[in-house]
Amino acid sequence: MDEQFALTLFRVVAGTATLAFFGGWALRRIRYLIALTRAARPNPARSLLANLRRTLRRSLVNILGNRRLLKWTLPGVAHFWVMWAFFVLQTTLLEAVGELYVGPSFQLPLLGSIAVGGVTAYDVLGFLQDTFGLLSLTGIAIFAGIRFAQDPNRRGRDSRFAGSNLDQGWWVLGAEVLVVWTLWVAHGARFAKGYAPTEAAFVSNLFGRALEGIDPLTLEWIGAVNLVVHLAIVGAFLVFTLHSKHLHILTIAFQELSRDPDREKALGKLQTEHIDLEAMDEDTVLGAGQIEHLTFDRFLDLQTCTECGRCQSQCPAWTTGKPLSPKMLIMDLRDHMFAKGPYLTGQRGPEDGVDILGMMLVGDQPGQEDAVIDYDVLWSCTTCGACVEECPVDIQHVDTIVDLRRYKAMMESSFPPEAGAMLRNLENSGDPWGVGQAKREEWTQPLDFDIPVARPGEPLADDVEYLFWVGCAGAVDDRSKKITQSTARLLHEAGVKFAILGSGETCTGDPARRLGMEYLFQAMAKQNVETLNAVGADKRKIVAWCPHCFNTIRNEYPDFDGHYTVLHHSEVLAQLIADGRLEATTPVDAKVTYHDPCYLGRHNEVYSAPRQVVDAVPGIEPTEMHRCRSNGFCCGAGGARMWMEESIGKRVNVERVDEALSLDPDLISTACPFCTTMLSDAVAQKVQEGSLAEGKVEVLDISEVLERGRMLPLVAQGVAGAAPAPGTAEVDA
Ligand code: SF4
Ligand code: SF4
Repeated sequence: MDEQFALTLFRVVAGTATLAFFGGWALRRIRYLIALTRAARPNPARSLLANLRRTLRRSLVNILGNRRLLKWTLPGVAHFWVMWAFFVLQTTLLEAVGELYVGPSFQLPLLGSIAVGGVTAYDVLGFLQDTFGLLSLTGIAIFAGIRFAQDPNRRGRDSRFAGSNLDQGWWVLGAEVLVVWTLWVAHGARFAKGYAPTEAAFVSNLFGRALEGIDPLTLEWIGAVNLVVHLAIVGAFLVFTLHSKHLHILTIAFQELSRDPDREKALGKLQTEHIDLEAMDEDTVLGAGQIEHLTFDRFLDLQTCTECGRCQSQCPAWTTGKPLSPKMLIMDLRDHMFAKGPYLTGQRGPEDGVDILGMMLVGDQPGQEDAVIDYDVLWSCTTCGACVEECPVDIQHVDTIVDLRRYKAMMESSFPPEAGAMLRNLENSGDPWGVGQAKREEWTQPLDFDIPVARPGEPLADDVEYLFWVGCAGAVDDRSKKITQSTARLLHEAGVKFAILGSGETCTGDPARRLGMEYLFQAMAKQNVETLNAVGADKRKIVAWCPHCFNTIRNEYPDFDGHYTVLHHSEVLAQLIADGRLEATTPVDAKVTYHDPCYLGRHNEVYSAPRQVVDAVPGIEPTEMHRCRSNGFCCGAGGARMWMEESIGKRVNVERVDEALSLDPDLISTACPFCTTMLSDAVAQKVQEGSLAEGKVEVLDISEVLERGRMLPLVAQGVAGAAPAPGTAEVDA
């Protein structure tokens, strides 16, 4: 047989067989992934086609611009290079397939004939191919460096890759290097034979020079064998991608299109599953108790996790030694989804899968073997949103965790028993402490001015600008009542007309919702919306000082026909200062660090207003903790954790106060009743342990800091005989 014919036969047959083998395998897997995703619960609110117009632009920016990834500069830039290399190098794949059937002289049509000023389109393409090939190798080297630096074998839990499939990461990096290397050998062989379409492919040119001097037939064999190897590596890489954490490169587009068109990220409001008792029957499932109860957008989440561990590195539960890692929770759900996949898609019958099918999604007690997610994992979450904030692919951890809680709480009455008292109090008294609505106006008694109380059916006076939503803590908790009073005094002194609901106010339902007791939340939400509408709150502004109330009324009540303009007290106070209606003139010589409440900061992106309020006081020396603003660290109370024991690892509030104390502050300011309580408790613990002098550090709300700056000098400094300053122990007594 003619040697040239044998070479062509080898190239065409081996190359075609390689393409057919890996292509067929990949197609089968893609069909399976589509069937699996369709086995999830539908979510009409996330319809890809219906929302396309609103989600497309954002998806393109996020994917092509790597917007979220670039929040972490070094890995973000490395990913940007590797990803764009992936796109650009698709053209080399076309060239490879063309070469397979036409031979080394193949060129992409037209590119050689389109020219401007003597530079052909092929010159540009060749230059870009080799430039991105180099950038891709640089990005891979950076990723490898990060993996060495973050090696979990050395760093243990501190590594963001702890628990990730490390081997898969190395295989991906290795495969990417091989793809680029074999590509350059293929191009080099064409250069050496004089078939190169452009001299601008500078790296290919170098490879070509290295191959010069080899006899033409041997060179063609090198080119043909390398071409088949290149296609095999690309094919194997594709199949590996479809079976590994690298799947995100194919699912990300669909996952992005399935995001909420009204939200930049899955923070603020939780997804609502409207509960209609009348329409419920024995088949009704509330929340997610089996993997297939999750909606299709969550299935896409599970397939899109890259195991990068950014979420884990920021999670207050994980970093204080709890078993919850948002990454591992997603990975465990994903592994279970794939294990159960053949049964969900009908490939296997139930008789084959007793173990998998019999597994609970979440255990009823710690350490249960037959549960996918451990009890302590689920209930350690504070719903702080740090995981969602950091996730480069916008995975909806908090919604998923709350869906799991909804099933446990509503379908099985399974939740930490200590939270039961809070739920009973909410049902019976309308607040988590069980104080009762009749006492919700008592905080007004020490004030020397009257506050109008809005009653349903009695319209508010026209000059009332704000309805002051006091919240349960602000109305019934002794420490928080002081902050409510400070806020009310400041509003009054600024001449703001406001009213309260008094005994007509009840809990927004936030703690019930975050615990998973969605039915109770929805009942409370409907009752509050009815009350708010009856007093005309929809025609005025609502000001709340509790970020949980603020978030719920602002972001979640619209799902129950409650549409209001809601402001946090920090925003109102900052505006009053800016307008010259509130002024602080008394110096408060104190170093102050501000703690961002998660439901004010990350969930609602209110970062500047509280700082503006504190900074308006003369003498204040502001200082920031390492973890602040969107990177802030939880106090440990969110997600109804306020009403649960914290017996595993270090207490989250102590971790936060340790961080604050490292700055040697005089004051820790914040803007949330739960943060105030948690931080004060941690400070008290430090004092009790003897590691902090009593009175050395105070925890104050921003309104109290502002009030100090408005007091007469002697009073502000707490001089004997003068009236005590806001937030001090004397006032609290
Ligand atoms: S919401 Fe906060 S506590 Fe819960 S998993 Fe995410 S980072 Fe961890
Ligand atoms: S959930 Fe997001 S942040 Fe966490 S490991 Fe997966 S991709 Fe990374």
